[in-house]
Amino acid sequence: MGYSREVYDAAMAELSRRKNRAEREAQKRRSAFYDLCPRAKEIQQQMASTASQTARAVFAGEKAAPAIAQLREKNLELQKERESLLLQAGLEKDALVPRYHCPKCEDTGYIDGKMCDCLKGLLRQEAYRSLNQMTPLTLSGFDQFQLGYYSDQSEGGEPSPRAHMGKIFSFCQEYAAHFQQHSESLLFQGRTGLGKTHLSLAIAREAIEKGYGVVYGSVQNFVSALEKERFGRSDSDADTNQVLLHCDLLILDDLGTEFSTSFVTAALYNLINTRLMAEKPTIISTNLSMKELLDRYGERMVSRMIGGYLRFEFVGRDIRQIKNREKIGRW
Ligand SMILES: [Zn+2]
Repeated sequence: MGYSREVYDAAMAELSRRKNRAEREAQKRRSAFYDLCPRAKEIQQQMASTASQTARAVFAGEKAAPAIAQLREKNLELQKERESLLLQAGLEKDALVPRYHCPKCEDTGYIDGKMCDCLKGLLRQEAYRSLNQMTPLTLSGFDQFQLGYYSDQSEGGEPSPRAHMGKIFSFCQEYAAHFQQHSESLLFQGRTGLGKTHLSLAIAREAIEKGYGVVYGSVQNFVSALEKERFGRSDSDADTNQVLLHCDLLILDDLGTEFSTSFVTAALYNLINTRLMAEKPTIISTNLSMKELLDRYGERMVSRMIGGYLRFEFVGRDIRQIKNREKIGRW
């Protein structure tokens, strides 16, 4: 899967921060220990000197074998002495060596020229981060969701908007709490300002905290990125489509507000269909009714959504308007 130069550079920069941190901290532990125990510093110097003597002996050829054995012996003794000094000081045997974030590759990102899993993970995270920059996650946790904004008046024998939204809210909390690789896909329908984006981002936030790769944003932003890459108007070799197809959770906000073209419709169908086949969860929010979705995207896509998504109808009055009115009232 292709990543843009920026994503790669950001991941490598994070690796080098990790490596530097580990080495700086080891250096700090070493100097603290040498202050405490001057003999340990002498040992360090002697070990460095046996190392250079060994190197010279190796170059001296065959006759060097007994000398090398002797130096090795000496080195082992020094190591043992250092270990016992460390233990006396109440430290671990390996207290003086860097504790790398990834011991496998020592935070270099590569093992024998092959990319380490830690770098793969960082690249994924960075790719998600760069896509997610378009939508801030702040202030959209479950805690900030206020059912009090929905009316508790029932009309025509239907449950009140508050009761109805209370069920959706509890479902979303459960869904987020038990989120896993093959959670169900969800379709949030209803007019603007009823909390669809809020609840989908609250789920996104919890899934991210659990360590899942989540990509969220408006359909409009995603399709612009796809179009740029598809029609070569982008200077990076980013592969947005691959990220959208393969992330653990994809949140498509505001389906139906994007500029409609046959390319966009085909790309969205491919996204929805491929993710359903792979049993990867997607959460779509839209202001459009089923009839409007059908008119806009055609039967093929809508029947995939009907068959594969759990549908939720958001009801009530526009919360954003109510909040704005409250703000004005306070002035
Ligand atoms: Zn690694």
